[in-house]
Formats: sequence, structure tokens, C-alpha cells
Amino acid sequence: MPDIRGPRAAARLRAAVDAMLADVAQLPAPLITWQPAADVWSVMDVLCHVREFIPYWTAQTRQAIERPSDSWGRTHADPDRLAAVTDTASRDVADVVNGIRQAAAVSARTLSGWTDAQLAAEAPSRNPRWGLKPAHFIVDDLLVGHVEKHIGQVRRNVWQYRQKGDAVSDWVFSPPAPPAAAIRGRAERFPIRRIFCVGRNYAAHAREMGHAPDREAPFYFMKAGEHYVASGSTVPYPPGTSNCHHEVELVVAIGKDGFRIAEADALNHVFGYACGLDMTRRDLQGAAKDKQRPWDIGKNFEKSAVLSELVPSAEIGHPSRGRIELRVNGKPRQDGDLSDLMHNVAAVIANLSLYYHLQAGDLIYTGTPEGVGPVNAGDRLEGSIDGVGTIALQLGDPE
Ligand code: MN
Repeated sequence: MPDIRGPRAAARLRAAVDAMLADVAQLPAPLITWQPAADVWSVMDVLCHVREFIPYWTAQTRQAIERPSDSWGRTHADPDRLAAVTDTASRDVADVVNGIRQAAAVSARTLSGWTDAQLAAEAPSRNPRWGLKPAHFIVDDLLVGHVEKHIGQVRRNVWQYRQKGDAVSDWVFSPPAPPAAAIRGRAERFPIRRIFCVGRNYAAHAREMGHAPDREAPFYFMKAGEHYVASGSTVPYPPGTSNCHHEVELVVAIGKDGFRIAEADALNHVFGYACGLDMTRRDLQGAAKDKQRPWDIGKNFEKSAVLSELVPSAEIGHPSRGRIELRVNGKPRQDGDLSDLMHNVAAVIANLSLYYHLQAGDLIYTGTPEGVGPVNAGDRLEGSIDGVGTIALQLGDPE
């Protein structure tokens, strides 16, 4: 019987915190500190309260598990609890929000490590209303349920503010969260901005596409950051094509802004690397080329930028050689080596930054080795780059 209480509570805590902070992110500054009435908390009071009680109730659960004969809990007049919600208007909302995120991440890790048997340990509460309770009561009601309860309070404040006739948002509709890639071994994610792609950067691939390899200068096309999809996803066979191709690529994640970057300094702008798939509607790309039209429709489409988790260059350095390969349904399709890149990572960054102000969050798909080819609904794509990682994509039926 697997332990489920801890992991389930951790997931519920993360979801509740995400929901609350997504609401708060939409609010104009005056609403954050606005008090609906003298005895009603502002959104800022709620945030400061949540930041204080997440570690508190996590620690109380630990006490109930480790020292079940001690009493746990506190009254509403507890000085720490009150101090947390005193003079909150002068605090920085970004600090408080970051504090909540960190507290929730730490707490969720702790919760997922507790077994069902540990969480069943009973301990007496100082609050006579509760009496003897199992540790999971503290987690479910006083920690996680408590965050969920305060989501409602934030929404009530927003509703009341709107009754005054004041705008509750700077937006006519809610802007989406940025697309974001996972980072190996880290809870934080990498927010994706633009996706630049290098064309024909391996000589053998240039030849298979009917071109003489050209070392003069790299050329580029782009994909919208919104077209990112995480490795491991299942995506429908793309619309409007009957010849969708795979292209496995080394992807560079930019971590520091720069313009006209010197090649010798270029690698200092790299946050890390990933394995990518530049999915391509080859028939639409070819038709556009034939008519001397832009090829966006062949390259820049939904879920066309597949990306593995990022690995920071601080951990793996800057790979300049190593196998890059892709299999479809287990059969080898692409097999190359990073050392065959005609324009290496530093050269691409230096060149691209002549034309764009590179920004932290930009991605660069560096081009694909030979062996590109069609995929079909139901196919499973799996690839890898030595020292960087693996990538997978499952193609579903067309929509
Ligand atoms: Mn490509």
C-alpha cells in the first residue's frame, strides 16, 4: 500500500498556493492593501498570514509526529500570529509572494516525505475545540484547507472592491502565465520568451535538403514561445499537414541579456542546455519556399517547439561534442555529433545578437543533423544528446 496522504497534501498545497497567487498577480496595487472594513483583513494581511502559518503548521505537524505527548497548536491571540498581520501595508508584496512560494515549496517537500503511518499519529491540541487529533488533521485542515479558505477571502475582497466601481485589473482579460521549462534538480522553472531557430547548421542536413552547405553566416527563423511543449507530452498530429517531420536539436537557453555580444564572451550569456525537437510541417514549408513566401506556417505552429528539462551550464559546462540522436518507434532516424555544427553555440549567439537584443528567457534551437523524416499519428519519438539529456514525444491522432 503506497503512502498517499503526504504526497496528496503536498499537491493540494501547491495547487492552493498557485491559485491564490495567480489571483493576486492580477490585482492592481491599491486593491492589495485595501481593507473592506476596519475589522476585515486586506489581501496583503491574508498573504502575510499565509506566509507565517505555512511553516508554523508544518512544524506543528512535525511535533505531533515526533513528540505525540506534547500539545500542539495555538490560540488566535498568539503573538507571532498577530505580529504577522500588523502593519502589513508597508511591506513589499513581491517579497511576501516570494516568501509564500518558498515556504510552500519547503513544506510540500516535507509533507511528501511523511508516511501514512506517521501522519496517523495522534497528539493533543492546546485548543480544546480540537482535542486529540491525528497529525494529518493538522496538515489537511489547518495547513492546506486553511490556504484554500483564504483564497475565498481574497476573492471576496476583489468582489467588494469591484462594487465601489474601481477596476480590479490592468487587463481586459487575464494574461496567461509565461510558458516555462523545467530545470533538472530545481523547483524553479525557466520562463520562455522568444524561440530562435538556426536553419541548416549541419552540412549533411543542408545536403539532404538540397542545398550546398554554406559557412558564410547562420540564418534564422522563429517560433512563438507559446508554441513550447514539454518533453513527455502527447500532442495531436498537427493540423494542415500530411508530412510532419522531426528535427532533433541542441537547444541553448539564454540566461543574461546582451546585444552585439563578443564571441569570446558569448558562453557567459548561456543559462543552460536542453534537447529539443523542431517539429516541421515540411509540405507547408516546401510550398512556401516554392512560392518565395515566408515559411512560418511550416515551422511556427502550436506545440512545434518540444523541449526537455534544462540542465544548467554551471553543472555540465558547454557541450561542443557528443552524440545527438533520434529514434521513431525505436528505429534510429537521426544520428550526428555536436562537433559537426557549422556555427557553434558561441558563434550563433554572437551573430544573432547583432540583430536582436537577446534576453534572459530566449531559446535558440541550433539546427538538426541529417536524417529528418516524416512521423505519423501514433508514433513515439525518443532522442538524446550526450551529456545533456533525453527527449520524448508521443503523437496522437489528428484533432
Ligand atoms: Mn530545425
